[in-house]
Amino acid sequence: MTLDHATIVDHLQRLLPAEQVHTDPDELAIASVDNFRKLQNIFGVHTMRRPAAVVMVRSTEEVSAVLAFAQEHGVNVVARTGGTATEGGLESGTEASIVVDGSPMDRIVSIDAYNMQATVQCGVPLQRLEDEARKVGLTTGHSPQSKPIASMGGLVATRSIGQFSTLYGGIEDLVVGCEVVLPGGEVARIKNVPRRAAGPDIRHVVIGNEGALCYITEVTVKLFPYLPENNIYMGWTLPTMQEGFEVLREVMVAGYKPSVARLYDYEDGQLHFSHFARPDECIVLFMAEGNAGITRATADGIHEIVAKHPSCSPVDPKLIEEWFLDLVWGPDKVQREDDRIRTTRNVNRTTEISADWSSINRIYDAAIARIRAEIRGITLLGGHSSHSYINGTNMYFNYFYDIDCAPELENDEFYFPIIDIICEETLRFGGSIVHHHGIGKARAAWVREEYGSSYGMLETLKRAFDPAGVMNMGTIIPVPTTARPGGPSGS
Ligand SMILES: Cc1cc2nc3c(=O)[nH]c(=O)nc-3n(C[C@H](O)[C@H](O)[C@H](O)COP(=O)(O)OP(=O)(O)OC[C@H]3O[C@@H](n4cnc5c(N)ncnc54)[C@H](O)[C@@H]3O)c2cc1C
Repeated sequence: MTLDHATIVDHLQRLLPAEQVHTDPDELAIASVDNFRKLQNIFGVHTMRRPAAVVMVRSTEEVSAVLAFAQEHGVNVVARTGGTATEGGLESGTEASIVVDGSPMDRIVSIDAYNMQATVQCGVPLQRLEDEARKVGLTTGHSPQSKPIASMGGLVATRSIGQFSTLYGGIEDLVVGCEVVLPGGEVARIKNVPRRAAGPDIRHVVIGNEGALCYITEVTVKLFPYLPENNIYMGWTLPTMQEGFEVLREVMVAGYKPSVARLYDYEDGQLHFSHFARPDECIVLFMAEGNAGITRATADGIHEIVAKHPSCSPVDPKLIEEWFLDLVWGPDKVQREDDRIRTTRNVNRTTEISADWSSINRIYDAAIARIRAEIRGITLLGGHSSHSYINGTNMYFNYFYDIDCAPELENDEFYFPIIDIICEETLRFGGSIVHHHGIGKARAAWVREEYGSSYGMLETLKRAFDPAGVMNMGTIIPVPTTARPGGPSGS
């Protein structure tokens, strides 16, 4: 029998000190959504089911006790650390639900400059780890735009990626080992070694699990020398995205590893570079960092490649550097954006996908054309590529629209129709519908199509790790209580 909220709270208060079990109605309302339905928080209109409580956990033992209780009584667990999720991963999948907030677990356990790795609890904000690493001349190499507000547990759980990914990789390239609590309360540790060939790499069950398989309590990540004095910035304007993708491809295929490699289209470019780029110009930019010899060689190689594209016009590197320094989103910037949406009812959303070099421009063209033709109220529509690989790149669609409906209907009337177009066009050309924000509940309706014939492997993994189905129900794998009517496989 499903427990009611009062009974769940009563149990939790026996497991944890009372002040760690939060039941304030306003707090529960805010916890019922994340950035996926951010308008509900911005306009204070909450329509989603609320959790019974938000519990603030202080240790692995506390996480273990809560997860044991949850499994025994069939109570859904929504893991949370930084709370910056964008895809509905923090929504309650069912009535009997608790948010397990690991932000009090915020201890930097060690910064080991000899073995070049740092161990932190899940609630450590990435910015704090980065600041501490820099004090000893090191960097995490991980710089998502949410660096000041996201925490290590969530960053690992969503398979996040940062602006310097072309050199350092995504979080999957940085995680060395970790400690997790499995549903039911068992604690498991994956040890820290440079590499091992002892069967499958079980770190990948943890990385990107979005709280649907286990709770991450501690992670160890790699560190790198921090040498900003060697940074070299480069930028060019050019006429088309197609040519820009070709420049990116040639740089990657030649084996260069700039830390930043980005390409902006006309409309997205105007948001950032209108002081030097015309509205009919795209912008391709790079940053080389690290050891002086390597950065010089990287910059020389990129210049050589771009020189073969006569339509590229150089931009003063100082302008690229200035833009770059203001790229991350701290709480102030988030607040300003929320205020802007509240006063203008003009909403900004993003959706990120990936594909190989042959397909990326076709997906970009097809999705942009359809959104422009099929969606009302669009005031800006564009995108950029910000993470490149030898075999392809990502596309980060960036769009603004004026809403003419109640704020709580925005997802159904605008956001879902747009992401459906992006997912359809991406899958049509063989790409992936999620590059780095996770599937959450927002894109779960598309997960069968995303996985194709390997979907059974994903379901088997979920069943094996979470047999009672209590870990973030509806995240990654849709369930009837979270499926959206009319969505592809979620319906
Ligand atoms: C302004 C802004 C900019 C962003 N820029 C980027 C970017 O550049 N790159 C990028 O990759 N993402 C970006 N994001 C998305 C978001 O910041 C990332 O997904 C981030 O990794 C989430 O971390 P968090 O600590 O906030 O996690 P939360 O929001 O708390 O949780 C995210 C997901 O992980 C699960 N989870 C959280 N903690 C744990 C845990 N301890 N164990 C198991 N599961 C857990 C949650 O259940 C949820 O599904 C951005 C978001 C915003 C709002």
